Amino acid sequence: MVGRILVVDPVPTNRMVLRAKLSLAHYEVSVVESVAQARAAFAANRYEVVLLCSTLICIRSTAPDCALSWMSDARAAHNMATAFVFMRTGPAADDKMCTLLDRCLRAGASDLLWRPFNEGVLLARIRSLMRDNAAPRDLHIQSAEGDLTPADNGREEGLKTLIFSTEIAPDEAAQPTTLDPSPIDAINQSRQAEDKICAVPLSTLMRPDARPSEPDVVVLLTRTKSVEHALSVMSQMRSRSHMHDVRIILSLQCPSPEQLARAYDLGAHDVVTDSTPIGELAPRIDNQARIACQLQRHKRAVREGLKQAMTDPLTGLHNRRYAAQKLRGMQRTCLSNNTNFAILAFDVDHFKGVNDRYGHAVGDIVLTSLAQTLRQNLRSGDLICRTGGEEFLVALPNAGQDEAAATADRLRKAVGAMDITVKAGLAPLHVTVSIGLSVQDGRVAIPDMLEQADRALYDAKSRGRNVVAIATAA
Ligand code: GH3
Ligand code: MG
Ligand code: MG
Repeated sequence: MVGRILVVDPVPTNRMVLRAKLSLAHYEVSVVESVAQARAAFAANRYEVVLLCSTLICIRSTAPDCALSWMSDARAAHNMATAFVFMRTGPAADDKMCTLLDRCLRAGASDLLWRPFNEGVLLARIRSLMRDNAAPRDLHIQSAEGDLTPADNGREEGLKTLIFSTEIAPDEAAQPTTLDPSPIDAINQSRQAEDKICAVPLSTLMRPDARPSEPDVVVLLTRTKSVEHALSVMSQMRSRSHMHDVRIILSLQCPSPEQLARAYDLGAHDVVTDSTPIGELAPRIDNQARIACQLQRHKRAVREGLKQAMTDPLTGLHNRRYAAQKLRGMQRTCLSNNTNFAILAFDVDHFKGVNDRYGHAVGDIVLTSLAQTLRQNLRSGDLICRTGGEEFLVALPNAGQDEAAATADRLRKAVGAMDITVKAGLAPLHVTVSIGLSVQDGRVAIPDMLEQADRALYDAKSRGRNVVAIATAA
């Protein structure tokens, strides 16, 4: 995506200025003057950022021409793909406006920016939102049935967000080890969320070995005018691997516009300053907690999808696709360590007879029991896969021929000794396997090695089954 921005503003000069500034920064900009036009533009195009004039928020926030109601509709339909930023004018102390804007944050707006804009800050904020949008979009995988993750904006039920708050003192030496809990207590009271914010000393957060557990959101409170020190602490935090997914809200005292822009560019997910009304902090924290939950859910879904793509659903073993990748890795290790590795090709003997006699369901029980026996009899570094119907593959790293042949025979005997319960009252079922073994030093291509193991397996079958046959070089 090139970076599409939609500007919704009833004032022609505002539209003109924003279009010019954003186009100069190489964004693709559309401008409209009303919520009705914004709805139409949004239906036709995807935007990464929408800049909305706060005067478009109606007192009755559910009215269709209210910017707030449109944002809620759009967010429900497109989840996190678009960031909504309200551009506000007028006095900070306008209570009615503050309440409405507070509602915007609670409804999922990414930010509220004051007019007039500092161009550098506006562009840095947009860059940070675009970066932020990229993560869920990259993780968003379409499956045949539709989206892999449900498009809802809510917090996941039962999922608690860990929110830590810490203070940044003027310099490293002055970092407090005990924190003043009062500001955090006040925020906790104003939040309805079940997950409470804990005050944690900075040293605890930064030391991976000492952290109580990984937070989802960190609020960095800077009680010092040393904005530079706060920025450097945040950068360090962002670079720590255990803090990689943490959402950071940085609170700065009197930052210059240049420092504010840098805060976004250095990776702050949200920045509040002395001019941010205190009431806004709680919804901003909630927003980051919600995003943290959504990102975790996306990541889990992607991880789950990847796992499914590599797993045989019946036995839970890895499948052929995974085996192909893993064997290439084993071959490389073998070559660099100058060792051997072995492939064992398994095939259940007369398995068709099991299905014919006892039914397919019992055949499945045999396959899962066999998988369990292989797991129980192999080491964690060994590879076990189901490569086909009643065919399995085991790879043993760092194994010479004698060791591999002994392991194959041990497995063959373990399978033969399995008492498989078919039905209460019936005698247990027994099966045997034939095994073809190929041992190489990593110089033979994997497909050739597999072919050798298959040929050895064929040999084992022709020798009467329930035996291990060792491949001879082709
Ligand atoms: P051999 O000793 O020569 O290997 O004989 P076999 O009967 O084991 O070999 P054959 O290839 O004739 O039969 C394999 C059977 O495995 C046929 C197929 O229906 C069955 N099969 C394949 N996948 C599954 C499965 O997931 N579950 C069950 N229950 N049976 C399966
Ligand atoms: Mg077979
Ligand atoms: Mg068979």
